[in-house]
Amino acid sequence: MLDQPRQETTGEAPEEILHRVFGHPDFRGRQEEIVRHVMAGGSGLVLMPTGGGKSLCFQVPALCRPGLGIVVSPLIALMEDQVAALRQQGIAAAALHSDLPEEQAREVRRDLGRGAVKLLYVSPERLTLDGTLDFLSRRDLALFAIDEAHCVSQWGHHFRPEYRGLGLLAERFPSVPRLALTATADPRTVEDIRAQLRLSDSPVFRGGFDRPNIFISAAPRESERGQLRAFIKAASDGTGAGIVYCGSRARTEQTAEWLRADGHDALCFHAGMEPEAKREAHRRFARGDAVVMAATIAFGMGIDRPDVRWVAHLDLPRSPESWYQEIGRAGRDGLPARALLLYGAGDIALARHRIQESPAPDEQKRIERARLEAMVSIAEAATCRRRILLRCFGEDGPENCGACDVCRNPPRLFDGTVPAQKLLSAVLRTGRRFGVGHLVDVLRGRMTDKVAQFAHDRLPTFGVGKDFSDQAWRGVARQLVAMGALDVAIESHGELVPTDAARPILKGEQKVMLRAETVTAAAPRDRAGRGTPPAMAGDPLFDALRGWRKREAEAQGLPAYMIFSNETLASIATMRPQDAEDLAMIPGVGRSKLERYAEDVLRVVREAG
Ligand code: ADP
Ligand code: ZN
Repeated sequence: MLDQPRQETTGEAPEEILHRVFGHPDFRGRQEEIVRHVMAGGSGLVLMPTGGGKSLCFQVPALCRPGLGIVVSPLIALMEDQVAALRQQGIAAAALHSDLPEEQAREVRRDLGRGAVKLLYVSPERLTLDGTLDFLSRRDLALFAIDEAHCVSQWGHHFRPEYRGLGLLAERFPSVPRLALTATADPRTVEDIRAQLRLSDSPVFRGGFDRPNIFISAAPRESERGQLRAFIKAASDGTGAGIVYCGSRARTEQTAEWLRADGHDALCFHAGMEPEAKREAHRRFARGDAVVMAATIAFGMGIDRPDVRWVAHLDLPRSPESWYQEIGRAGRDGLPARALLLYGAGDIALARHRIQESPAPDEQKRIERARLEAMVSIAEAATCRRRILLRCFGEDGPENCGACDVCRNPPRLFDGTVPAQKLLSAVLRTGRRFGVGHLVDVLRGRMTDKVAQFAHDRLPTFGVGKDFSDQAWRGVARQLVAMGALDVAIESHGELVPTDAARPILKGEQKVMLRAETVTAAAPRDRAGRGTPPAMAGDPLFDALRGWRKREAEAQGLPAYMIFSNETLASIATMRPQDAEDLAMIPGVGRSKLERYAEDVLRVVREAG
């Protein structure tokens, strides 16, 4: 705990806090409006994408308003990181959760008792204990912030039963503003959050959902490792982190292993790991240079690192919401970042079957199916991917975003009715019993053992597809699966099976437009400079500052970005401040950091000449 006596408000206006404490020149997007609303005592729900700047929406009013600010957070790692970052900024923040050693918990309670805490992070189960509520009811409270508010909803993917109890805050503390925040924009989840948290009469603040600095791309899985290697090479700047999302625990382990063999500092993370191992993985991810995490979607909340340069998915996510939340972890610092989605016909079919067979009520299945199909249409997009994605969040993006693979390199569409018919008829004539590999052999007229064994060389479809490459045929098959004309028999051997939707195609009643497959390992490296890593790497002063930051972070046991962000170091290297006054002008340098680090930073600048 900081050695500060009482944390009264300083009587500063929100803008002053923004400048002095956080070192930011301006509010972003709807932050200012939200801060004003809370300052005036209002409650509400904030919807902003990951990296959109939700934290300031409650941190600033919590510091301006009299009393203690309470932040409910679902994840211990997240709390600890935020508290450490706030203390770096000179704010008396503390966390109270079940993992805290009793001695430290006592210390926090003592500090609370003597009014030496301004911002308290607390887990929902702690907050709703009678003792905590009684204590808080005798205190002046600035606000309640409910972070990751989608945890309250069963419709979301991170339901936390303990969040349900938070509804009582409305009755217990009717005059204290309550601000719920989430990156989820799915309408059903949003309504559920409002109902559960008694916010139905309060406004919803929707930030723009676009994150234009993230270049998004998707490609059919061809050679997974080769594609991922090329992507990492294009996306990594040698310092920031990367995340590979995998569909299963085993895949996280295998992926981390081959990435390590490739020379990466790769870790893995999934829900089946011991709590201690998970914490360690979190810690190493937060602190490492150029670290790569291969993880299931269990790795998510609590990643505050602003310099995640890329996020790759090796398997199809189940909804645009989850995909966007996951790729949104890239580029929070506003610098160029990249996302790659790899997927195949098998993923699509598997996800459909899972929903089909799940014991969930029909209504929920219907919703999950709609989400999945939206995801498939993003993967198979022939027009701007970002536009399709943003439409899922009720937003109209530009016709051409210029920062997705489709805009950059538009696919060629062709009338694929005849190839579709050839493939479907090969499926029927071989008795609906074969996977795509064998069907491609038949179409291309390849005399394999299997073809000989089943005498498929005598079929009229044998060799009718010599004009297409193997890859092109797999593309036809995948697109037919995506459009629902073919199914993949997941429960047996992955054979392709026609559905009712195949009939009009076979009969020539329905035209099929297909995308010509191009080998896209990754988005091409950008010539225009957009999408390239920060240009400062290699600058001697920038490197010297990074060296100093690394030593400082290690000495304090903190992630480097909490000392200063790359962006701030890059500005320092460019501006070459001569004194503390110059340094204070640089974005990201608040007063507390100025007091702590001005001397060191100015020395590094001087020594670099
Ligand atoms: P979220 O919680 O919505 O995912 P954060 O609150 O972590 O996003 O903010 C994301 C990043 O944007 C952080 O690095 C933060 O410092 C930065 N940021 C937020 N608001 C501003 C602002 N007004 N000016 C400059 N940077 C900001
Ligand atoms: Zn686009």
